[in-house]
Amino acid sequence: MKILLASGNKKKHAEFTRILAPLGIEVLLPASVGGIPDVDEDRPTFAGNAAKKATSAALAHGMWALADDSGLEVDALGGEPGVKSARYAGEHGADGANNALLLHKLAGVPDERRTARVTCALALSAEDGRIVVEVQGHAYGRILHGPRGDGDFGYDPLFLFTEPGFAQTGRGFAELAPEEKALVSHRGRASRELVARLQSLRALR
Ligand code: IMP
Repeated sequence: MKILLASGNKKKHAEFTRILAPLGIEVLLPASVGGIPDVDEDRPTFAGNAAKKATSAALAHGMWALADDSGLEVDALGGEPGVKSARYAGEHGADGANNALLLHKLAGVPDERRTARVTCALALSAEDGRIVVEVQGHAYGRILHGPRGDGDFGYDPLFLFTEPGFAQTGRGFAELAPEEKALVSHRGRASRELVARLQSLRALR
């Protein structure tokens, strides 16, 4: 079975390929099918945006499509940056500016009120645009007062993982090796849930 990934991100492609290959699923990049339409990510939730992107890609090519949407929600900021995570400071994907704005908005806020979570929503659409599987994963932590670690993705340098009982507890996401992060990350958790759901769908057939 082939699934079209509704994202041109090569890291995501590698991650989903690794996760889905054992199920006999080949994950295709948009470039290999001639591209996918641009989608305005205007839904108020991660799940809504993921579903919109999956349906759009599936309908464009008449094939199964997988989309993800993710971001950070900070309690003291009423859930900001939320669905605007990638473009919090204006420009899409400007991680440095986004992180600087986040620190500015949290200036003077004490540790106990800097709680946050990252969320990853995944949506899988059938050829006809129908959403067949929707899953979400979360990771809980708090926002540091300055960057920590070498990882350079998104808000990772400011996100301290605080869920009790893990080897990763008390470490920053940017301090973790990719495999260590995937064991507790929102994306890792959502991906494993997706695999479980796909396996049970197949068992029903
Ligand atoms: P996307 O939907 O995966 O493109 O992610 C949207 C934005 O959420 C990214 O630009 C990052 O700012 C943020 N984000 C998503 N996942 C992570 C993560 O694992 N660590 C830090 N930031 C993340």
